Amino acid sequence: MKLDSPLKLACPELLDLDGAEPALMGSRCRACGEVYFPASRGCTRCCATDMEVCSLGSHGHLWSWTLQGFQPKAPYNGGEAEADFRPYGVGYVEMPSGVKVEARLTVADPALLKIGMPMRLTLQAYRQVAGEEPVYTYAFAPV
Ligand SMILES: [Zn+2]
Repeated sequence: MKLDSPLKLACPELLDLDGAEPALMGSRCRACGEVYFPASRGCTRCCATDMEVCSLGSHGHLWSWTLQGFQPKAPYNGGEAEADFRPYGVGYVEMPSGVKVEARLTVADPALLKIGMPMRLTLQAYRQVAGEEPVYTYAFAPV
């Protein structure tokens, strides 16, 4: 994903932005192959600590979803006034490795979300406060 200028990211360690599309970064256990997101320093499946960084890719399938219909409590820091809060989609997206990633969804319309539908990773400005640089996080959009 070529960017004209670096974006302010909420969690830059979770993303690889050097390819044509953004990709999520996790870890894989070298002993048993279990994949983690976010990256883990140890394996809860086999107790090994020999982990390697791995890309989870940019595409997956919607495993489940809901709508966040009210402003979350901290650590949410969207920065908007409660009256300005707009509901957003939240889902689990199953990546090709099988790991399920909780993420914002770019749509909040139940008519546009269907379990099993293909999703692609993107970036979304979730914190937009006047006078501040927007803060981006990863999100999934229907393909
Ligand atoms: Zn393991």
